[in-house]
Amino acid sequence: APAHPTTERLTVMGAGLVGSLLSLYLARRGHAVEVFERRGDPRRAGFQEGRSINLALSDRGWKALGGVGVANDIRQVGIPMSGRVMHDVQGNLTRQPYGHDGQAIYSVNRGHLNRRLLDLAEGQTGVTFNFGQQCLGIDLKTKELRLRDTETQEERTAPYTRLFGTDGAFSAVRSALQRTDRFDYSQDFLDYGYKELTIAAGPGGAWQIEKNALHIWPRGQYLMIALPNLDGSFNATLFFPYEGAESFAALQTPAEVAAFFDRVFPDAVPLMPALTEEFFAHPTGSLLTIKCFPWKYNDDVLLLGDAAHAIVPFYGQGMNAGFEDCTVLNALFDEYGDSAWDTIFAEFQAERKPNNDAMADLALYNFVEMRDRVADPVFLLQKKIEAKISGQFPGQWAPLYSQVTFSDTPYAEALAAGQRQDAIMARLMPHIQAEADYDQPTVQALVQQEMAARH
Ligand code: FAD
Repeated sequence: APAHPTTERLTVMGAGLVGSLLSLYLARRGHAVEVFERRGDPRRAGFQEGRSINLALSDRGWKALGGVGVANDIRQVGIPMSGRVMHDVQGNLTRQPYGHDGQAIYSVNRGHLNRRLLDLAEGQTGVTFNFGQQCLGIDLKTKELRLRDTETQEERTAPYTRLFGTDGAFSAVRSALQRTDRFDYSQDFLDYGYKELTIAAGPGGAWQIEKNALHIWPRGQYLMIALPNLDGSFNATLFFPYEGAESFAALQTPAEVAAFFDRVFPDAVPLMPALTEEFFAHPTGSLLTIKCFPWKYNDDVLLLGDAAHAIVPFYGQGMNAGFEDCTVLNALFDEYGDSAWDTIFAEFQAERKPNNDAMADLALYNFVEMRDRVADPVFLLQKKIEAKISGQFPGQWAPLYSQVTFSDTPYAEALAAGQRQDAIMARLMPHIQAEADYDQPTVQALVQQEMAARH
């Protein structure tokens, strides 16, 4: 039973991944929730979903889904990926486990996840969804939403009491906050765009490359990745410069695309029968980091998810971070009661801002790791040595990737620990040329010394 039900109606703008999960959390607490969403209802027959897109879901996401009891349900339609498989230009494969045995991130279909959360939220009493309603802006003084019906194009205003902005990276709710005094805002686009492509299923829906892995074709300045789908296909994404010798600008014809892929991704090309059609039919997406503050306006408005902190996708954490926002907000409701709005909003942004800032930096850092370092034998050796240290000193050394992906250690703490560990590895690695060197007495002495000096 809800601890402190209130009779006031809460408004959620945006029923994407974070908005639908947030609505479910709020409804479970006994609040009345009204949700507005620009798109049509994705569960309606005939809804044009577009391409099927998958996302990597990891521990923070699972924890948030578990908090409303849907983790098991989603796990059944997710595909565990226990490591990375790197493809070099000759088609040679190198495997790197993500964590220890049994640990995996999950490839989950975005549309399925969103529809499931909408179903569950709608199944709660007190939640109303209004699809096809675009927010054009809000008036913070009069507490009114300006809405446009995307079918009739009719515009109207609607009052709100308390508004949660989960309307994504280009949030209309945030744009009203941006015009308030001393509101900090930055957006930084990468010089890279992305293109979604398909690796086809084999005969009988077979996976043509290893199913339980995230595949990477690291090429120094750019990369392609692929995540598995249940039907045997993979969603591949090319992250590629907009301009330059090897860039979107340089690939203008099907022949140029085919020649480029034959040269740099030769083992993938035979698995991508629709490559050139898709390359020109699918849009080129841009990639950006958005930071802003504050995330609240009085105790009236709160931003969560990408609306508050959009990041580049290279750590697979954007959705996970937004889901963790829901976990943290829910814990604050538990702590302060469901009507301490100002305290809860203030605590929420104080706790989440430094952590999501750290995650934004980690995501940019991982871009270089994925496109470049994972192809470097010294880097891969370092990861193996780190795993050995972690095994030798249980509980004292968790690799950065594990802290981000397989724990709920606050992102800022994970980043700081990762930096300390990197400094140690920079001192150790010159003494290590092969995995077996780890057991050399001189290396062991250094490791012991470094571990002792940490405390
Ligand atoms: P969104 O998912 O953008 O949802 C916002 C919702 O608000 C949408 O439904 C939209 O229609 C609606 N809306 C927008 N404007 C209005 C308006 N004016 N009025 C009404 N409604 C509106 N994250 C991961 O954790 N793992 C991954 O592997 C991963 N891979 C990614 C790969 C790529 C290429 C990209 C671009 C992102 C990836 N992400 C990943 C990040 C993830 O997609 C986002 O962090 C996540 O979707 C954020 O959820 P959200 O609900 O805050 O925003």
